[in-house]
Amino acid sequence: MRDSKYGLLRNFINGQFVDAAPGRTMPVISPGDGSLLADMPCSSATDLNIAVAAAQAAFPKWSRMPIKERVQVFFRYKYLLEKNLQELAALVSEENGKTMGEAIAEVEKCIELTEFATSLPQLVTGEVLEVSRGVECRTEHVPLGVVASIVPFNFPAMVPNWTIPNALALGNCMIMKPSEKVPISVTRIAVLLKEAGLPDGVFNIVNGDSEIVQEICDHPAIEAVSFVGSTKVAKLVYQRATQSLKRCLALGGAKNHLLVLPDAKPDMTAQNVAASMSGCAGQRCMAASAMVAVGQVDSIVDKICEEARKIVPGKNLGAVINKESKERIERYITEAEQQGARILVDGRGAKVAGKENGTYVGPTVIDHVQPGMAVAVEEIFGPVISIMRVDTLDEALEIENSSSYGNAASVFTQNGGYARYVIDRASAGMIGVNVGVPVPREPFSFGGWNESKFGVGDITGKSSIEFWTRLKKSTVKWNPEAGVNWMS
Ligand code: NAD
Repeated sequence: MRDSKYGLLRNFINGQFVDAAPGRTMPVISPGDGSLLADMPCSSATDLNIAVAAAQAAFPKWSRMPIKERVQVFFRYKYLLEKNLQELAALVSEENGKTMGEAIAEVEKCIELTEFATSLPQLVTGEVLEVSRGVECRTEHVPLGVVASIVPFNFPAMVPNWTIPNALALGNCMIMKPSEKVPISVTRIAVLLKEAGLPDGVFNIVNGDSEIVQEICDHPAIEAVSFVGSTKVAKLVYQRATQSLKRCLALGGAKNHLLVLPDAKPDMTAQNVAASMSGCAGQRCMAASAMVAVGQVDSIVDKICEEARKIVPGKNLGAVINKESKERIERYITEAEQQGARILVDGRGAKVAGKENGTYVGPTVIDHVQPGMAVAVEEIFGPVISIMRVDTLDEALEIENSSSYGNAASVFTQNGGYARYVIDRASAGMIGVNVGVPVPREPFSFGGWNESKFGVGDITGKSSIEFWTRLKKSTVKWNPEAGVNWMS
């Protein structure tokens, strides 16, 4: 095996790191400097079967434990995340390429997600009613069994924690399939969960790429699959998992619109737009990717360019995930230029001294984009904003509504009436008013519309309870009288 910082990664099954069956491996490259961090095994159906068997064995005891006991693990896990925040953030930054500040914010979000899970006993109390004399109906949220979580590269710790604390606190056992591009942070999360007292087998990691995802979708003992990634793969996973009669929630890609009105506060708007398009190098499903400028907003566009120029690769802007991604993003910019759009700030060809093998793209502002251009319609997933010019708010909404995606949309205005108009008409699951990245914080749930999400409900917050549990309804009569039945 080649020399690398973390060597050949192992799966995590039944509380232990174990070798995957011999087979293909994939390199894990640090986007920041191009160094080889590890090799990741592409697990086989045999590895998955072992992990599922461990999860099945752990399920009876874990699921029967009262939820108030189960959440004690997550109080301790939250404390361990806080204690190991810097170390976990450093791993996230190293394998994903985001800045240390962004990685710290990511781990802080993991802490908030875990905090929510510790409140689940308060939220899953079920209902009970005496429906006729001496006869009670009761509902209970019952765990599903073995569930799977398939995650993308852009948040190596946060997206896994969208599912881990809630699904497990609600009594399920999990198979986690990390992104092949960033599989290291999750191994640290597994160690912290074990240290927090999570019983062996409740949480398992099976590494791999598309092949193991197909095995997961087809596995008869996996009851539910959650997926976060691109729309193309979300569709495949949703179709395949539901084809084998599983419950599935598949979150896909995005093209988020910011509608900027002439009465918007210029400094605040410019800072928000620039931060939204460039944070995590634009690799957020909530990133602003298209801006619709309504009427005369030239001074705001100038300020956005000023803000964008303050964002410097390798300093306050991280790397994009890999060479293919850098090339793809730069291709989009060049194509828009060739089609007549104006590149106001150009991030192509960015280099960071001492990190020549890193994959950086500078912030890019493209003006006078036409609605049909690829940069206006497709997910670029880089620090690029495409500005379209329109005369009216209705035209802006028409552009937003025509997107096949529907994760987020934001409006920048000081007029409450216009803001409400946008909230009512934007075709997206998460709307911002003067907020560039309108991620709902716990207990509110996260989830888009249209081709940004397939399946019912949301992945986090209260909405996730319905996904990770099923309802048991019991009708109970203990009084001895004859003639009193459930309908009397
Ligand atoms: P991706 O779709 O390429 O990969 C996601 C997961 O699917 C990975 O674990 C990968 O191994 C697996 N996979 C890849 N190709 C597959 C195939 N053909 N069949 C089965 N499985 C396959 O996504 P990515 O590049 O890792 O992440 C970026 C994407 O994720 C962007 O589109 C982004 O918008 C999206 N995303 C969405 C949300 C959301 O909440 N909607 C959140 C984060 C990221």
